[in-house]
Amino acid sequence: MRPFPDLALAALVAGVGLGLWLDVPLSSALPLLLLTLAAMAVAVAFRLCRLPAGPMLLAAALLFGFWRAEAAQPPALPVIPTGAEVSAAVRITDAPASSGGRYRFRAQVVAGPDGRPADVPTGTNLLVYALPPDDFVAQRNRPFLRYGDTLRLSGSLERPQPIGDFDYAAWLESQRIAGVMWAREAEAVSTGRSFKPTVALHRVRTELADGIGKGIPAPQSGLAQALLLGIRTELPHELKDSFRNAGMSHLLAISGLHVGIVMALTLAAASAAVGRNHPFAIAVSLLVVWAYAVLSGLDPPVVRAAIMGSLFLGQGLLGRGMRGLTALLLAAALMVAIEPSLLSGLSFQLSFTAMAGVVLALPLIAALTTAASAPLSASGSWLARWSQYALSLLIASVVVSTTTTLATLPLVAWHFGEIPLMSVPATVLAMPAMPAALLGAMATALAGFLATPLAVALGTLAWAPLAWLTWVADTMPPLLLSAPWLTPEVMVAWLGALALLAALVSSRRMRRAVARLRRRPRWRPGGLPALLAGGIPVVAIAILLLVGQLSGARADGLLHVYVLDIGQGDAIFAVTPDGRQMLIDGGPDAQSVMTALDPLLPPGDRSLDVVAATHLDSDHVGGLLGVLTRYRAGVVLQSQHAAESEDATLHPQWRAVLENHEHPTAVVRAGHNIALGRNVTLEVLHPPADGSSAGSRRNSNDASTVMRLDYGETSFLLTGDIEADAERHLVATAGEKLQADVLKASHHGSRTSTTPVFLATVNPRSAAVSAGRDNRFGHPHPDVMERLESLVGARQVFLTARDGTIEYVSDGKTLWVKTHGPPR
Ligand SMILES: [Zn+2]
Repeated sequence: MRPFPDLALAALVAGVGLGLWLDVPLSSALPLLLLTLAAMAVAVAFRLCRLPAGPMLLAAALLFGFWRAEAAQPPALPVIPTGAEVSAAVRITDAPASSGGRYRFRAQVVAGPDGRPADVPTGTNLLVYALPPDDFVAQRNRPFLRYGDTLRLSGSLERPQPIGDFDYAAWLESQRIAGVMWAREAEAVSTGRSFKPTVALHRVRTELADGIGKGIPAPQSGLAQALLLGIRTELPHELKDSFRNAGMSHLLAISGLHVGIVMALTLAAASAAVGRNHPFAIAVSLLVVWAYAVLSGLDPPVVRAAIMGSLFLGQGLLGRGMRGLTALLLAAALMVAIEPSLLSGLSFQLSFTAMAGVVLALPLIAALTTAASAPLSASGSWLARWSQYALSLLIASVVVSTTTTLATLPLVAWHFGEIPLMSVPATVLAMPAMPAALLGAMATALAGFLATPLAVALGTLAWAPLAWLTWVADTMPPLLLSAPWLTPEVMVAWLGALALLAALVSSRRMRRAVARLRRRPRWRPGGLPALLAGGIPVVAIAILLLVGQLSGARADGLLHVYVLDIGQGDAIFAVTPDGRQMLIDGGPDAQSVMTALDPLLPPGDRSLDVVAATHLDSDHVGGLLGVLTRYRAGVVLQSQHAAESEDATLHPQWRAVLENHEHPTAVVRAGHNIALGRNVTLEVLHPPADGSSAGSRRNSNDASTVMRLDYGETSFLLTGDIEADAERHLVATAGEKLQADVLKASHHGSRTSTTPVFLATVNPRSAAVSAGRDNRFGHPHPDVMERLESLVGARQVFLTARDGTIEYVSDGKTLWVKTHGPPR
């Protein structure tokens, strides 16, 4: 009875599923029932072999699964006080993600080490938004908050509410998070520095992610972190959406592939040292594979791959074979028996169904390859042999892509409500780049430990396959079929059919048939030729993409000024005719600005000639904090006000980043001129030298640096966030110097700026407004839009929210505009 273990394992998983999704309170009677069943099964198995012991054991497995699911149901979330101000000591329990200078993290309320009582029950999990305490900012490099830190927070606590379609509250509850805290104050209590393996682990994980961030340009760095380490904080939403629309989401989740790569590499190295199938080689490989699984945060797909890898290694040790399907089911049963709630997670489900697709594919590949290459194998020429090999690679790639996609399709459709029709072609195109992308990301992450230049060199190479993946995701037409007919019954039927098919193709008879097909000797290149065969397409893609990137990024004798599309905030990037780069402000968060900026820089370039902060609001310097940890700045320009405004929330972090990374800084004021190569000058118009700017004491917006950029006869006025008072002051002091061809409208088009007198003095031919889509401030204000449109015409007013990144190009005489968003 060969398939019996498979059935028992499947019954266990099914039992967990039933326990999770059915509301039948069997738990009290269950242990007794189980015991009886087990006793019966044993009795039957030993004494009366002729009786149907099988069904009994299957029932026992099912019940065991059911009992596990019931027993592991977590208790209800604790009751927390909401609405009022609370104070509590918390310990950070995941890697904090930063945005706009604030950090978002999961935390657990702990008994206050200072003896002060907490207003929230100890042990409660919260999602916290907080600024880092000054102590940490003074002691550390970014990130200023880390896993394991203990803080005392005070602020308001909210029960999460559903946001739009996405049931945020339910998601948080599934993460066991009882509430969301907006911390008004954060005080450092202790760091996780005392030896704790998990703290060390998070440290290494963060450092590896950092190595990827240093070496690989955004947004591909976010993709590499997600694929390799399961860290998704730097993966832009737009990219996640294009992966979903192209039907490639499963590629983000199934990547047990890297576990395979890690295992193969260690096994090869260890075998070379001590010999094949030596227990030492196998033990070392096991150790490395599990260390890696732990390092990647025990992501379900990685754990699945690690268990299957261990079974494979154990097989080498015992000299005994195990069917792919059995290994897969064993991994699933082990995982859900330990942690039943895993079964409800999308990445667990995707990982296992995709792997079932691979199990399905293997015999198909063998059969198809034999059939397709039969005519070729008659001739013994080298050309025939190579084409036979190439054909088998192509067949394998197409079949694996197709079966994994078809297997995961209903799950994707179920979770997202739509079926991505381009899924199969997209996966067929993307799959070949996956191994190179993973290997490259791995090498870059490790190089980040050694030396940044090495990480940059490797990251530039690793960028190419990653860019191929993003290119496929972005270019595939998003053909989505809504699936209202996809009921739970259809879903179960689909998955049942899949399981049946997998069982069928891995049955003994089928395997024998395939083995017979294979009996004809098949040629495989080994060593260098094999490496070349695998490497050539990847290298070709890499060269093609790098050439494309280089041709887009080199200095072309023109001035380019980009108003970057970074959401609600400001980030303006300029490249001068001889290739100098200047970034003025960095938007609210590092991920958005780097995603917009990195494709505009030459590959491997990690420096900016000039970085300027107009003022210290988070929508201007939140992103610069990240930029200045990854890029070298030739000089950082800031106003006296920004350098000294210690009441600004981000001032401590801003100063720490400048000091820790030793960026040269310069304080600028009205009257300063900065030469940026030939014929390009940056002139500072505001704030005035005597610091007398009207209103600047009560309003940091009015203290923004205002600059004009001139190239030949063309000019740009960059105004930061100044409002009416500063505009009036500028009209009085700068007068004619305000006249410019292009106006970056101040303060995101808010009603308090772009006053009629100021606008008339600037008298621009074109205007750009940087504001986020559907931002909560209602920027830009209709009055401002009307004023701008009546002066320059509606066609010459550009909005980042509508037009995407806005690019002005000047040859010193003529000015062109390009937009990088959807056509108007
Ligand atoms: Zn602003």
